Amino acid sequence: MKKVIIIKYGELTLKKNNKNFFLKSLKDNVNKILASINHEICYDFGRMFVYVEESDIIEVVNLLEKVFGIHEIVVGYISDDLEINSIKKQILYLVNEKEFKTFKVETKRSDKTYPINSMDVNKIVATEILKNVLDKSVDIHFPDLTIHVEIRNKEVLYYFDGLKGLGGYPVGTLGKGLLMLSGGIDSPVAGFLTIKKGVRIEAIYFESPPHTSEKAKNKVIELSRKLSFYNGVVKLHVINFTEIQETILKNIPHDYLITIMRRMMYRISAIIAARGRCNVIVNGESIGQVASQTLSSMKAINEVVKLPVIRPLACLDKIEIMDIARKIGTYDISTLPYEDCCTIFVPKHPVINPVIDKCREFEELIPFDELIYEAIKNHEVISIDHNEPKKEKYQDLL
Ligand code: ATP
Ligand code: MG
Repeated sequence: MKKVIIIKYGELTLKKNNKNFFLKSLKDNVNKILASINHEICYDFGRMFVYVEESDIIEVVNLLEKVFGIHEIVVGYISDDLEINSIKKQILYLVNEKEFKTFKVETKRSDKTYPINSMDVNKIVATEILKNVLDKSVDIHFPDLTIHVEIRNKEVLYYFDGLKGLGGYPVGTLGKGLLMLSGGIDSPVAGFLTIKKGVRIEAIYFESPPHTSEKAKNKVIELSRKLSFYNGVVKLHVINFTEIQETILKNIPHDYLITIMRRMMYRISAIIAARGRCNVIVNGESIGQVASQTLSSMKAINEVVKLPVIRPLACLDKIEIMDIARKIGTYDISTLPYEDCCTIFVPKHPVINPVIDKCREFEELIPFDELIYEAIKNHEVISIDHNEPKKEKYQDLL
């Protein structure tokens, strides 16, 4: 018998034709997150096995809890001795170390040619425990201990309770998206939920120095770092938005400031997305949260891009969003009090139902193509992972 970490896949098993690709990606992602730990992985369509030193098991399980595409993580035992008397002996040995009064045995037989069916294995094993261990009884509804026995083609697995994994799909199996990442509470959560569905993200942040500070930017870098636990390295595009915002402020009627500003953000995001082969733009908009997130505002803003815009938070309440932010560790960073570029230019009475024709009319008043060209030409890209950020200037032209 060998100790092993067993990974159960969950929803993956529904993806018939892509199964191989999904499992290979999951293996790669697990390999990456365990890069600094001596480990070995093997897998088939049913289960993935991770072998590590006994002393690394807790750390590895903690890391696996951050990997999408995993439904359950269990620490168990694997043996290639499938003979029923050996199974009895091995289980007796394992339960001896456990404290419990009531138990049940749950056998799964993926090898249907095994000569004893699951119900009978349950009975045989339970009888053996009752015979050999004092003061135990069977309770099939609320047992203190559930003993899982999985009989497979060449091996048998034993395990007790498991830990719930994050679910979702392995990152990277569903392409790439560009996350509009502000320093707020919502957008990191939107990013997390999108990564969960197998989409790898790049991020884009609009800053307005000197109206926004280096601290506000660092906040976005730290949020990206949190997301990089789930995503792998996050490529963060930082766009200097000052010139565009000041031009809008000078030339556009104030009730339309936010609408036009967001149309500019969307246009720039679409260009950066196309360059990075991102199929979608992702953001943290939630219906009704602020004036720019009414349905008619979303329509007026969305109109300037062809790419689909994914809004994972569209139908969540702020309280639900905050709960997720706390769970993924972004809440405390998001609530640091540094200003965002939108908050600086908020007009007193933003239009709640903007008219698309008016947006187009107002945009004639500013040279927006040139402004966008300049902002993209000079933008900065930062690669963020769990270590220090690496800076590089992005100089190629449109
Ligand atoms: P957040 O949702 O991050 O808390 P918010 O609630 O203030 O920001 P808005 O300002 O209306 O909401 O922005 C809605 C969405 O637009 C954000 O969730 C984010 O995806 C995107 N966004 C807003 N400001 C920026 C920015 N400076 N850089 C990048 N994306 C932004
Ligand atoms: Mg918001």
